[in-house]
Amino acid sequence: MSKRYKKEVIEKEKERDFKPQTQRTSGSRKTTVSMKNKVVTYIPNMTVADVAKELGISNAEMMRKLMGLGVMTTINQSIDRDTIELVAIDLGFKVEDEVITDLTRFEEIIVEDDPKDLKSRPPIVTVLGHVDHGKTTLLDTIRQTRVAAGEAGGITQHIGAYQVDIKGQKITFIDTPGHAAFTEMRARGAQVTDICVVVVAADDGVMPQTIEAIDHARNAKVPIIIAINKIDRPQANIEQIKSELAKIDLTPEEWGGKTPVVEISALKKIGIDELLEMIVLVSELEELKANPDRAASGTVIEAKLDKGRGVVATIIIKNGTLKVGDNIVCGNTYGKIRTMSDGSKKRVSKALPSQPVEITGLLEVPEAGDKFIAIEDEREARIVSEQRAAKQKEGVFIRQKRASLSALFKQKEAAEKELNLIIKGDTQGTIEALKGALEKINVEGFVVNVVRSSVGAITENDITLASAADAIVLGFNVRPIAMVRDMAKSMGIEIRLYTVIYQAIEDIEAALKGMLEPEYEEVVIGQAVIREIFKISRIGTIAGCYVTDGSIKRNSGVRVLRDGVVIYQGKLASLKRFKDDVREVAQGYECGMSVENYNDLKEGDVLEAFVDKEVEK
Ligand code: GDP
Repeated sequence: MSKRYKKEVIEKEKERDFKPQTQRTSGSRKTTVSMKNKVVTYIPNMTVADVAKELGISNAEMMRKLMGLGVMTTINQSIDRDTIELVAIDLGFKVEDEVITDLTRFEEIIVEDDPKDLKSRPPIVTVLGHVDHGKTTLLDTIRQTRVAAGEAGGITQHIGAYQVDIKGQKITFIDTPGHAAFTEMRARGAQVTDICVVVVAADDGVMPQTIEAIDHARNAKVPIIIAINKIDRPQANIEQIKSELAKIDLTPEEWGGKTPVVEISALKKIGIDELLEMIVLVSELEELKANPDRAASGTVIEAKLDKGRGVVATIIIKNGTLKVGDNIVCGNTYGKIRTMSDGSKKRVSKALPSQPVEITGLLEVPEAGDKFIAIEDEREARIVSEQRAAKQKEGVFIRQKRASLSALFKQKEAAEKELNLIIKGDTQGTIEALKGALEKINVEGFVVNVVRSSVGAITENDITLASAADAIVLGFNVRPIAMVRDMAKSMGIEIRLYTVIYQAIEDIEAALKGMLEPEYEEVVIGQAVIREIFKISRIGTIAGCYVTDGSIKRNSGVRVLRDGVVIYQGKLASLKRFKDDVREVAQGYECGMSVENYNDLKEGDVLEAFVDKEVEK
């Protein structure tokens, strides 16, 4: 394995499921700066402006410091931890990582296992592909031949996922074919899949949904294995499929490319072992590991209410070992694991990393994509789930989800941001032209990344992908139907419609520049009337004022109004209450003010304070 590939694998591992995800909502901001021990708490993807604030310096000062380090950036761009550290140390600050210990945010808690405790875990595989290309047949064949064979009676039960054994190596399959479930889970921040098998029928070829599936897998940065299916059919044209794959940048390994391709017949059970062996091979390169000797955490795959058994959920263990009798918090509910069984209805007493099990014992039905953790103390588990339910009611988690969506796509180099686009158009020609032009847009620090471009109306599928990829949808001479429009609205996905190419390009360019340079809007925060003037030598004119409305802040801009006419605009030089400098004086209070570089103040003048507020886009 090349070094670069290995690095990518490591990076990917880092980006996986339990990555800490930070919210930028002011209320929940955990950053702390204490001037006493001068610590900046590092939150992934902090912007230059955030850091400046934490360090107590102005944005301009911060930019100067960065320039001094040879870092060219804008205040709204995020900077990496090393750069922050350089600036911070210079100012006598220490940088520390945010440590999340709040169990109600358990998804964000970083589990740091000692590398020596880590053991290989089986890969978790999702089967994707165009309709009728044989996904269901393939999953059934694998389940029948590999799961049922060893079990008494050979009864298999569909629990949403199953595990098979190939030459002593285990593989977990998610038993819901297609990318709807895959994307939905990802949109919820739960990336369970380690490897995607994309099925392409040899008698049909690379189809729109094949491309969609590949888009999803690439977007999730998950390795792809192509299974060319239906090779038993007389119309099968394997070479044709391979050349189609090469055209979409999936050149088969045997042609000198990097994509593993296996030829199979799901129906006639040809090539199944080869496919499974290939999955094992690819998973070995991924170096998937977990620590079985800790409390379990993982993700819900399916859940339902069963008349006899109560809440039944299929979960996949991500890390640790889950045992019957464990207390778990799952989404916003909790419970004590009453029973656990595998896909062959066999009762098990414990479940290891990557193992799917059906559990009973939860109080309420969780949602697919919800995560869980085992908590030793039952009472604590209950309290955590209650607090989470309360937070959900307040809408805290909704914001988190949006934030985690963008976190999905944070770049390896935090300094470079991606604008993800989905382009739908009326003809291939216009789409190509638009795509080419958009990808050429050069705004420093941004990469335009077209996640999907295809002919046709804007569909629900486009919206789900946009949601998973945090992308904007561009429609060129095409429109979404009302239902799709509503769906986009409810998911907060932006759809932009154009009929002229250059307008689309101009818009995107402007949007990118807008992302770089925030727009400011002036907001008047208060007014004060001058009641008395004091001329003090060497200091200048001090106006004794009374705040008539709002409040005056030390760092605000100020306008001098005389009979309603602006006669000067500048900055406050000082704001005092009696002898003390103050940060703010509210309505109904008296204060002393002086205006920078302006001494011609008169009794009766009104001083209007304003601040520049960043306009939200
Ligand atoms: P899905 O929509 O991708 O889940 O596709 P299905 O698994 O439902 O398969 C669609 C059709 O293709 C069914 O009629 C299958 O019997 C058939 N099929 C699937 N795999 C093969 C194969 O390897 N060879 C042949 N001849 N037919 C297959």
